[in-house]
Amino acid sequence: MYVALVNWDKCTGCGDCISVCPVDCFKMTAGKSEPYRSSYCINCGACLDACRADAIIISIGWGG
Ligand code: SF4
Ligand code: SF4
Repeated sequence: MYVALVNWDKCTGCGDCISVCPVDCFKMTAGKSEPYRSSYCINCGACLDACRADAIIISIGWGG
């Protein structure tokens, strides 16, 4: 199980991660990308490639 995390101090709100994520982990909240379905992540790496701000971390999740 993987978990997508966004560092809001780095996120510019460009929306690119929302566009590329195949399982819709992200949505825009207050001008930042919120990984509201973080645990859907399949570790495809697309958001990491897309994020020019280097704001996203994919982590190994607990449980589930
Ligand atoms: S691609 Fe990066 S900078 Fe752009 S909205 Fe997503 S997390 Fe923020
Ligand atoms: S690694 Fe892939 S599945 Fe996971 S959040 Fe990023 S784009 Fe979505």
